[in-house]
Amino acid sequence: MADMKMPRNPMPTQEPSVRARNFREVALGYTEEAALMEATRCLNCKNMPCVEGCPVNIRIPAFIEKVREGEFEEAYHIIHESSSLPAVCGRVCPQENQCEKRCVRGIKGEAVAIGRLERFVADWHNAHSREHPQIPEQNGHRVAVVGSGPSGLTCAGDLAKKGYKVTVFEALHLAGGVLVYGIPEFRLPKAIVQKEIDTLKALGVDIQTNVVIGKTITVDELFEDGYEAVFIGSGAGLPRFMGIPGESLKGVYSANEFLTRSNLMKAYREDSDTPIMKAKNVAVVGGGNVAMDAARTALRLGAEKVYIVYRRSLEELPARREEVEHAMEEGVEFLLLNNPTKILGYSNPDDRRDPKNGCVIGMECLKMELGEPDERGRRAPVAIPESEFTLDVDCVIMSIGTSPNPLIKSTTEGLAVNERGGIIVEEETGKTTKDGVYAGGDAVTGAATVILAMGAGKHAAKAIDEYIMNK
Ligand code: FAD
Ligand code: SF4
Ligand code: SF4
Repeated sequence: MADMKMPRNPMPTQEPSVRARNFREVALGYTEEAALMEATRCLNCKNMPCVEGCPVNIRIPAFIEKVREGEFEEAYHIIHESSSLPAVCGRVCPQENQCEKRCVRGIKGEAVAIGRLERFVADWHNAHSREHPQIPEQNGHRVAVVGSGPSGLTCAGDLAKKGYKVTVFEALHLAGGVLVYGIPEFRLPKAIVQKEIDTLKALGVDIQTNVVIGKTITVDELFEDGYEAVFIGSGAGLPRFMGIPGESLKGVYSANEFLTRSNLMKAYREDSDTPIMKAKNVAVVGGGNVAMDAARTALRLGAEKVYIVYRRSLEELPARREEVEHAMEEGVEFLLLNNPTKILGYSNPDDRRDPKNGCVIGMECLKMELGEPDERGRRAPVAIPESEFTLDVDCVIMSIGTSPNPLIKSTTEGLAVNERGGIIVEEETGKTTKDGVYAGGDAVTGAATVILAMGAGKHAAKAIDEYIMNK
């Protein structure tokens, strides 16, 4: 009988004190030996609960069996049947809430490290495979994809493989969506994303950057230009703010802006012409993955103190446990059950030209306690009277959520959105209220995950194919 207590193989990482000051990848990946050992922990369960936990239903026991046999390329092909971005998902998927949460091994011990094995297989393939994608025969139909994040890239790839001539329109100057501008290099090396984009280009997908749909050209004009269907995968990049005094001071960023400057524009490099504030003490407001990324980036940019200011307790913190642990190991301080009420700015009335005028010099907060559970079962934070205190910071990064940008909706005839700005679609197909227009990913759901966005792109590609073929 299998030893159910056998622990999972640890992931080697850079030393916390070293990695807190560089942008290289934190997790170093399994060696072949570690991958083989981890694969032996899989029980090859007949009912495959782990597969049900994966939003794209990767045949997990089958690929792990191939790893155990040392057939890494075959393992890759099994994963690739369901996921076009395994090197990405193996790194950033919230596995502990998906495939690994359902793993039988997790009942009495630790779940099989499915994500780590997926990452190993994808990296092995990228390092060893000499395969070139087969150029599909063109079917003469044209589809436009708006946005080059995981939903758009997946939809474009699946349609290109069926012979469609696909053009991806991306507002930024680089393709990849959040994978490039949001998630930092130390969690997801950009070379991995670039490789996926190069594969798409090799399949014949045309990627046009610096094109803002709704400004440069509208969705309706794309149809006039001869596109037969449009997929909208424009994400949820519009940041929210708290609405407290001081949010327009110098030194206050949205997490998206801060991370874009660092990840996409490489503002931390001497040769970059994009500035970024080299702050001494930084407060990041929020507790999700984005907040962890912003805090860890601020550390790497040289901050002496970085605080996560979150209004609930550690238990409610929505970020992945692994990211929270990494942030703590690196020295990020967690100020839990605290809520900002005001950001304080410097003012020198005697010298209006003093460059420090309008810069952040602190943040007022209130201590909180948890009250009664709300309608979603989460205990609501309640302010403790007279518990004000001032945090000594010179930079504040707001990371309290994002929503879909209303630009496309406001420039597209007949496209309906819900009260949160998400495009309304049929769940199975991604079909919107406008004929020939499909949507998926964060533009529909609001901020979610890479694998869900990818799954939505896949479903929409299938539906677009059926729509065009039946027209
Ligand atoms: P996006 O990735 O947002 O891509 C949308 C693209 O559309 C962008 O490139 C944008 O520039 C472009 N666009 C927008 N409007 C237009 C327009 N009008 N015209 C042309 N192009 C346009 N998920 C995880 O699973 N694990 C994680 O660890 C994780 N960490 C995250 C960390 C950060 C900092 C952030 C911001 C998100 C994180 N997420 C994570 C969430 C995940 O990245 C998103 O759910 C996913 O990228 C959504 O994919 P998408 O294709 O819908 O949109
Ligand atoms: Fe697990 Fe994500 Fe891989 Fe699915 S794609 S098997 S959820 S790591
Ligand atoms: Fe293997 Fe766990 Fe899936 Fe069972 S549930 S097949 S042990 S990964």
